[in-house]
Amino acid sequence: MAQAQNQELTERFIQFYRNYYRDAIGQLAQKYPNEKRSLYIDYDDLYRFDTDLADDYLNQPDQIQEYAEEALRLYDLPADVKLGKAHVRLRNIDRAVDIRSIRVHDDHIGKLISVSGIVRKATDVRPKITEAAFECQRCGTMTYIPQSDGNFQEPHECQGCERQGPFRVNFDQSEFIDAQKIRVQESPEGLRGGETPQSIDVNMEDDVTGKVTAGDHVTITGVLHIEQQQSGQEKSAIFDLYMDGVSIDIEDEEFEDMEITEEDKQQIIELSDRETIYEDMVASVAPAIYGYDEEKLAMILQLFSGVTKHLPDGSRIRGDLHMLLIGDPGTGKSQMISYIQNIAPRSVYTSGKGSSSAGLTAAAVRDDFGDGQQWTLEAGALVLADKGIAAVDELDKMRPEDRSAMHEALEQQKISISKAGINATLKSRCSLLGAANPKYGRFDQYESIGEQIDLEPALISRFDLIFTVTDQPDPEHDGKLADHILKTNYAGELNTQRTHVPTSKFTEEEVNAVTEEVAPEIDAELLRKYIAFSKRNCFPTMTPEAKEAIREFYVNLRAKGADEDAPVPVTARKLEALVRLAEASARVRLSDEVSEEDATRVIEIVRSCLQDIGVD
Ligand code: ADP
Ligand code: MG
Repeated sequence: MAQAQNQELTERFIQFYRNYYRDAIGQLAQKYPNEKRSLYIDYDDLYRFDTDLADDYLNQPDQIQEYAEEALRLYDLPADVKLGKAHVRLRNIDRAVDIRSIRVHDDHIGKLISVSGIVRKATDVRPKITEAAFECQRCGTMTYIPQSDGNFQEPHECQGCERQGPFRVNFDQSEFIDAQKIRVQESPEGLRGGETPQSIDVNMEDDVTGKVTAGDHVTITGVLHIEQQQSGQEKSAIFDLYMDGVSIDIEDEEFEDMEITEEDKQQIIELSDRETIYEDMVASVAPAIYGYDEEKLAMILQLFSGVTKHLPDGSRIRGDLHMLLIGDPGTGKSQMISYIQNIAPRSVYTSGKGSSSAGLTAAAVRDDFGDGQQWTLEAGALVLADKGIAAVDELDKMRPEDRSAMHEALEQQKISISKAGINATLKSRCSLLGAANPKYGRFDQYESIGEQIDLEPALISRFDLIFTVTDQPDPEHDGKLADHILKTNYAGELNTQRTHVPTSKFTEEEVNAVTEEVAPEIDAELLRKYIAFSKRNCFPTMTPEAKEAIREFYVNLRAKGADEDAPVPVTARKLEALVRLAEASARVRLSDEVSEEDATRVIEIVRSCLQDIGVD
């Protein structure tokens, strides 16, 4: 009975192949086994052919895959072609699960699921033994032992002479398969308000290994499993979830999951027509932080970014803006840059001190992830923030390895790693928003500010804007700051009251008045969409007036004799920075033209930054 049923399933797959995959199998047969070893099946095709079979495939993937592969071997092909070890790989299944929400009780164990995210780590590809041939040193008989995951299994006795060896593993007679382990982490755009990203490990085998590198955005289809944790010999009551990968798809470059409806679009266009759009944008950045209008405007420009240019000679000028806040402690820098997570469509917030081994850039490490022997390539913050913003606090405390890799990361927007046989180039097309303390922890007012920035000139020159923040007593400013902070804290109290004590001692009007004070002008969700919309649709170019304004400013600046050895040199990079900033300014209005006002607006910011540092 069971036999008949099995045959029926295999037959069913052969039918399916005849209807849908005749050509694909023909190609596979031609290229097997060197160039191709898998037949990829689209779930939709299978579903259209037989809904029950498609369902069964999702729910009993291991068994059904065997029939699917058996069918491939029995498929009518020219006599000399054998698809002996070809795989069938299902892709595009309609069971996408958030990495964050994978739970045992969802009953997905042993079933196919698909997850999307960014590759955080990937080991190098290594052969894994699947069947070991043990050659008896006494009689020469070969004993074959299949190897599954976990410990290496040795024979109890020789199949020939029945003695306990000794044995020698004969590699020629053993079977190996390429193996790779990767860790997929939730994409930054899925995270809201500083959640720690969750991840899942995936084992890949044979022809799906070596396809991805750290930093790639992927969708993986695979079977979910659980495995008991172990520390040394001790087994733990806690289990880990992992996946055996079936297929892996790299998401294309422009991957953007933000949906903008027609209604959103109307709202965005209305907003962009406001006279006060720039002020309103500024009022939407970290409203709890008092002042810093220029810094906030710069953060807005950074979110919109300039236009990336691809030159005819194949080179590329980045559109992304890098900026740095450097200043005395307790001046709200951390608060301000961490706010970026609320409004950036894709962002990563981290500290230069870094807790992960990859730090800010990337690293090739040998750790537990690759069983201690294999090298693992791990993506750091600047790679994870690809196509978004990396907010890095305490940038001055970054590790020496990061310092050197940072130069390439910021200008070429990639990170090259060449270590222990791993040669990889990771993309880091992100904007850096850094915060740092000066050389002695706080600014010494008797030394020039430029001299107190504790980063090397090559790195400094890569920032489009550097803001310095000094904490000098100023009765008027301090008074206003105090009012603001007291009010915001009061707002917190009001909210607490509102949520925890139904009969608030504050009136509704009081609550509204204070909440308004610290509410962003444009709601964060809408702002995120606004930014995404503008970046997708606006590619502004310079008007002659804007060009002239920037040219004049730059030439004057150079003429003032800010020399190359100055702590913050004025180089041609400043010119590119001005262009990027001006383009970003046009994008805020959803304009395709950089006007003279855009130029003037950004010249003002650049001038004031340079003045603070003591250039000009
Ligand atoms: P930094 O990173 O510059 O050392 P923080 O961001 O940690 O400073 O700020 C310290 C505290 O002071 C925070 O609670 C912050 O809210 C408050 N603070 C500092 N400056 C301001 C400001 N201008 N407006 C409102 N709060 C501020
Ligand atoms: Mg801080």
